[in-house]
Amino acid sequence: MLKVSQLTKSFGDQEVLHGLTTTFPEHQTTVILGPSGSGKSTLLRSLNFLERPESGHYNFDGKDLDWSQPISNATILQIRRHTEMVFQGYNLFPHLSVLKNITEGPIHVLRHDKATAQTEAQQLLAKVGLADKADEYPSQLSGGQSQRVAIARSLAMHPEYIFLDEPTSALDPELELGVLKVLLQIAKEKQSMIIVTHNLAFARQVADKILFVENGHILFDGPNQDFFGTQNQRILDFISAMT
Ligand code: ATP
Ligand code: MG
Repeated sequence: MLKVSQLTKSFGDQEVLHGLTTTFPEHQTTVILGPSGSGKSTLLRSLNFLERPESGHYNFDGKDLDWSQPISNATILQIRRHTEMVFQGYNLFPHLSVLKNITEGPIHVLRHDKATAQTEAQQLLAKVGLADKADEYPSQLSGGQSQRVAIARSLAMHPEYIFLDEPTSALDPELELGVLKVLLQIAKEKQSMIIVTHNLAFARQVADKILFVENGHILFDGPNQDFFGTQNQRILDFISAMT
């Protein structure tokens, strides 16, 4: 289980997250929604220690960290072992084949033997619909294919949580669909995920839980059906502006 409490984050003298408290349940998909600039990416990045909140608590699998105190790099690395971030720009290694992109982490970080890592990488490529791309290089892939490789690569690390920040925002609608299908499949398999998206139709399909963030505050925190069935005027306005 991943929880934060009273998470406060500023850039310079501008406070952008104002004491957020929430939980990200295991084996569920939490979708973070909200207007541009509301703090969604900052929240997600804080969960992976890519941003450092100045106060609040971070609780992961029972281990409690206080952001206002020093946190060792070893602790951060240990948490990152269990939380994989899929970046918008794919971040594949351009000089490595698709297969090697996926096997690097399992071989060098998880210390899996090469044959095991390769077998699993092939299975993951099949899962994301790219079984025939193992020997190609990232430059030979479309944006949607690259993003699916990035997802396969994160799955290969067997993380407890996968974080995705607008995983399809750089893609044409046609390519987007392939990536969303893969994420829906992974969600169905109960991989714990936290996804920031502007795609409400997708959020409605994939989310177990919705967090609606506005101006650095959580305005809604609850089940998917309650969000989309809300009577809250601010949320209704947001939904109608987005659809
Ligand atoms: P979008 O939907 O456009 O991606 P967002 O909800 O992800 O928006 P954030 O990127 O988290 O929003 O930004 C929240 C606030 O923090 C904004 O006011 C933004 O300008 C500010 N901010 C984000 N990153 C930085 C930074 N590195 N330095 C200074 N201010 C920042
Ligand atoms: Mg963002």
